[in-house]
Formats: sequence, C-alpha cells, structure tokens
Amino acid sequence: MKKNFLLTPGPTPLPPEICEALSRPIIHHRTPQFQAILKEAEEGLKAVFQTKNDVFILTSSGTGAMEAAVVNLLSWGDKALVIQGGKFGERWTELCEAYGIKPLVLNVEWGKALDPDVLKGYLNKEKAIKVVFSTLCETSTGVTFDIKAISQVVGETDSVLVVDAISGLGAVDLCMDDWGVDVVVCGSQKGLMLPPGLGFIAVSKKAWQLVEESKCPKYYFDLKEAKKAIDKTDTPFTPAIGLIVALNEALKIMRAEGLENIFKRHKKLAEATRAAMIALGLELFSPTAASDAVTAAKVPHGIDGEKLVKLMRDEYGVTIAGGQGEMKGKLVRIAHMGYISEFDIILGISCLEKALKKMGYNFELGAGVRAAQEVLLK
Ligand SMILES: *Cc1c(COP(=O)(O)O)cnc(C)c1O
Repeated sequence: MKKNFLLTPGPTPLPPEICEALSRPIIHHRTPQFQAILKEAEEGLKAVFQTKNDVFILTSSGTGAMEAAVVNLLSWGDKALVIQGGKFGERWTELCEAYGIKPLVLNVEWGKALDPDVLKGYLNKEKAIKVVFSTLCETSTGVTFDIKAISQVVGETDSVLVVDAISGLGAVDLCMDDWGVDVVVCGSQKGLMLPPGLGFIAVSKKAWQLVEESKCPKYYFDLKEAKKAIDKTDTPFTPAIGLIVALNEALKIMRAEGLENIFKRHKKLAEATRAAMIALGLELFSPTAASDAVTAAKVPHGIDGEKLVKLMRDEYGVTIAGGQGEMKGKLVRIAHMGYISEFDIILGISCLEKALKKMGYNFELGAGVRAAQEVLLK
C-alpha cells in the first residue's frame, strides 16, 4: 500500500472543501447564479491581492497571466526590463521575445535577491523603460524578492512594475495598493490551494494607460475585452466554471484563517524546513533571501539529486521538486505553500532523511525532524 503526498511548489494539495466543490454539477455561466459566484470571487480576490483594482480571472495556467501582462502592456519596439534571477525571471524574457520585444535584462545571481540600489542605478541610466518585470517568489531558487523596495524604486520613474506572484501570493505578503505595484499576476495551483487552470491579473490605473496604448497582437488575453465583461460581472469567453466555484471555497478558507495568520504559518513552516536542512548538513541555496513559500537546499556532495527526488516519489510516495535549469540535479525544493500544515513538513523531512540514508549519505537519523520540531514548538 502506498499513500501519496505532494510537497511541490505547484501544484499544491487540495483541501477537502475544494475537492467537494469540484465535484458539484456544472452550472451555466450566463446566469444570475454564476454571476453571484463570480462577484463573490472578484471581491475575495481583491482581498487576497490587497487591491481595489480589478482582478481579471483567465482560463489558463499562471504563464497565461504572464503572457496577458506582456501583450496588454507593450507594443513592438517598446523598451522593457526584466529582473532575471532564475527560471521564472527568464520566462518574462522569453515571453517578451516571443512578441518581438527584446527586453533589457538585469541579471541577478541565482539564489540571491536584487539590491534595490542596483535597480535604482540601472533605471537612472536607462530612460524610457515602459515596463519592469519582476518576480515575488523565484520558485526555481527559493528566493523572495523585496517587492516593496523594488516598487519604491520603480515608483520614482514613469515605468510600470509587473510582479509575477504566481507562487508567492497567499504565502508571503504583497500589498499591491500600499506598495504601489502596478500589475500582479498569479495562478491557481500554488498558494491558492486549487488545481491548475486559472490565471489572475490585477491591473492598476497607471498600468491601464499602457493597456489603452498597447499594439501587441492579442485575442484570447485581450484585457480590454475582459474589462468590458467584468464591468457587467461577466467573462468574455466560457470561464472555467468549476474552478471558479472552487475558488470561492479557497477564498472562504483564506478569509477564515486571515492573511496575517496565513503569512505567519508559512513563515514558521519555512523556518522549520530551513532548520531541518541545516541540521542535515544540506546547504541552503538562498540563505540571505530565503522564501517562506519554498525552501531550496543543495543536494549533498556525491548524491544524485534527480535520483533522490525519484526515490522519494516513486518508492515512498512523497513528491518534492528537484532543481530546474542550471540547477538541475543539484537542488531539493520542498514547498510549504498553500494547504500545508506542520506535520506535512515533518513527513517530508522524515522521508528526505530516509532517502538520504538509503543513498549512503552520512548523518544522524532524525536530526532534521528534531530541528524542525524544535522550531515548531517555539
Ligand atoms: C509556477 C510558476 C510559474 C508558472 O506557472 P504555470 O502555472 O506553470 O504556468 C511562473 N512563475 C512562478 C514564480 C511560478 O512559481
């Protein structure tokens, strides 16, 4: 008998209330019944995004919302800047290039956060940048960027700041309106505890200027059409009805716990996970800017990281993530985002210990679990 556990940075486990909501019979979307559901979802999303701006719900994974940001804000020949510190930063660059926009790239070493003064210097030299693309939680490296500081720097210019909060939202704080962030994109399958399939994009007034001017080709992700629809509590195309029904359950769960408590829980789980990694002798990949959504640690010397992840998943039923891109085979990434409790983390760490022992790594069995428990007992 094998039981499966999911500790990956997307998708994340589903609470039973969400599974129940997903099993309900489908209703039609052009009805007052669905309109009421959509209205509730819109309001709940605004609370989670910490904004008064419209939050558009798209039927796509998170990358669709990223694409929506690119095609709705930019025109061919525009100057854009990508803050690129991992695989998901690279995605902004690739998306821009797919539409014939060659962005400037501000490279940040993988595992490090961006020094806001470096950005300030860059923006002082390079004028007329329309859009700055950044990432809240760089899931590939386990880094959380200081979006508040970045937003302050960008706010002193005419540029619009876009934040990929796909893995960060609902795990770490992001005050869209208070911090002056112009565009926030998200997906359903991470902090929001839903299956994949919904993309979200919130757009400020300042950013909407660019939407009005944008000449990039677009059809499905045209936010002007989405705006016309949202003003009538409608959607331009058939929405993912079942997922939006489930979204309201997720928002209800989040409302009951409260954003403050959600962030506190993630912080504690992250601290426990990091303590366990250190106790096991696994070096944290981003010790100075470690994310509270996902922990990345280097695989010990002589251990094959891909085999380790495979052993945990295929033999023991615990799925964590390995490294991506240039860190393939070199990292373990344990997610503590969304519907994750203390004992999910303990389970993940104990499984990691078993797999490491099996693969011949020398350490004191139980050291990671003990270190995590000590943090959780505080
Ligand atoms: C997961 C993730 C994405 C990609 O989202 P998809 O839903 O797979 O399209 C983009 N950015 C970040 C930071 C992510 O964690």
